[in-house]
Amino acid sequence: MMIASDRQVTCVYNTAHQIYESRLQYHLVKCKKVHNDQKKAICSFDSTHHVPASDYLVHIQTCPNRRVLDEHAYHVDGERRSAEECWKEYVPVNLPPPQESWDTDGPGYTYNPDRVSREKPVIRVMTGGTKSERKAFRQRECRRLQNLNNGLPLNERQSA
Ligand SMILES: [Zn+2]
Ligand SMILES: [Zn+2]
Repeated sequence: MMIASDRQVTCVYNTAHQIYESRLQYHLVKCKKVHNDQKKAICSFDSTHHVPASDYLVHIQTCPNRRVLDEHAYHVDGERRSAEECWKEYVPVNLPPPQESWDTDGPGYTYNPDRVSREKPVIRVMTGGTKSERKAFRQRECRRLQNLNNGLPLNERQSA
């Protein structure tokens, strides 16, 4: 079925692909598998946004669909389970270490993978530990992501 307002857009994996917007999500899922080497991350707000993994942090802060989730997150504030549902689990695959200086905090900054990962909008996955430990960890992660989303300071100790 054709939709009158259906626009053609260019596939982010292969510029030779011109895809109708109504088919884009379906196409991207297939194309991602073919071009898995491109290391793209799928936006939490719109599954048709496949962005380079290195641009993911910038994208989710500027995504035009972010407002939708912001409203939802606000509405369910305090509901841990709902907050979890707001965020799709996103585990980056071989994210390159940052080369630019945008996330340094002054002279003497040294690269610290753990610090970097704490400031990225990813849900870290805890392996091992008891079931309740893993649950608590996941809840802390969700809160951290919400803070990140709301531009609040990342203070894990406060919520531990
Ligand atoms: Zn394609
Ligand atoms: Zn997006």
